[in-house]
Amino acid sequence: MQIHRPTTLNHALDLMADSAPPPTPIAGGTDLLVSWHHRPKDDLALLDLSLLTELRAFRLTDEFLELGGLTTYWQVIESAEVSQAFPLLAQAARQVGAIQIQTRGTWAGNIANASPAADGVPVMMAYDAVVVLQSRDGTTEVPLDQYYTGYKQSVRRPEQLIRAIRIPRRQRAFEYFHKVGARSAQAIAKVGVAMVKDAHGWRVAANSVAPFVCRCPALEAALDAGQSFSSPAEIADILSADISPIDDLRSTAGYRERVLSRLIYFRLEEREKRKEKREK
Ligand SMILES: Cc1cc2nc3c(=O)[nH]c(=O)nc-3n(C[C@H](O)[C@H](O)[C@H](O)COP(=O)(O)OP(=O)(O)OC[C@H]3O[C@@H](n4cnc5c(N)ncnc54)[C@H](O)[C@@H]3O)c2cc1C
Repeated sequence: MQIHRPTTLNHALDLMADSAPPPTPIAGGTDLLVSWHHRPKDDLALLDLSLLTELRAFRLTDEFLELGGLTTYWQVIESAEVSQAFPLLAQAARQVGAIQIQTRGTWAGNIANASPAADGVPVMMAYDAVVVLQSRDGTTEVPLDQYYTGYKQSVRRPEQLIRAIRIPRRQRAFEYFHKVGARSAQAIAKVGVAMVKDAHGWRVAANSVAPFVCRCPALEAALDAGQSFSSPAEIADILSADISPIDDLRSTAGYRERVLSRLIYFRLEEREKRKEKREK
């Protein structure tokens, strides 16, 4: 096995461009090493990103948050400013594995691994994140909600790295994230949802209910139209156009569908009640 350890982004991009096939990037390794036994045995080449310090930092401005290609969950948890500006990021980060994983695991790795159960992806998607992909030939920006093309498939070409993830900073009227697992920590999501309302309208992103983390455009349209709901079943009806849950070792399609619609219904109901109370 060959391990490349570039110390600059340009060197890393050269290595990606000049090898066929390009080496597999490794950031925190918390997904890659779990699937180690399934790696191709021949000609495996890794591109260790850990020395690319230029990808480690995040940047918070008045307009956006830019997470670097190596920014970890822990960096977000530790930053009071980021946690305040983007509470759902910090909330999701605290629910990824335990501290050992939070200090190694990266937001970019969560996106690139393309698991339908990824916890970082729904919150970034609901916040309208854009993935900045870079190769030696240049940079492309892809909205995260257009990044996935199928189960474990994405628009990222093998010679591209995720250099950054950019999230616009906006006033929000509502934001919510909830993860349901077999226990309250150290569990992969059976189902999860992130919801955001801002001047651009509603965004609802869910995990573990489709081949990849997805937005729920039918429900978003209903919310944007000001529709209110009298039962979780009404929401489930609308969501049937958005999601395609399956039975697997963690849960069943029926459970996922019921729980997702209830999470959304009861959170919206609570929001209405709070609004009424304020108006009294
Ligand atoms: C015990 C344990 C618990 C976990 N719990 C959770 C959980 O609760 N929720 C959750 O969502 N995940 C969980 N995970 C999965 C994992 O920790 C996250 O998905 C993490 O974000 C992966 O980041 P990483 O840097 O470790 O990625 P790596 O393992 O280094 O890489 C993952 C994939 O992304 C690619 N990649 C990494 N960085 C880049 C880049 N910059 N550009 C292009 N490709 C890149 C790699 O080639 C690989 O295909 C858990 C893992 C473990 C071992």
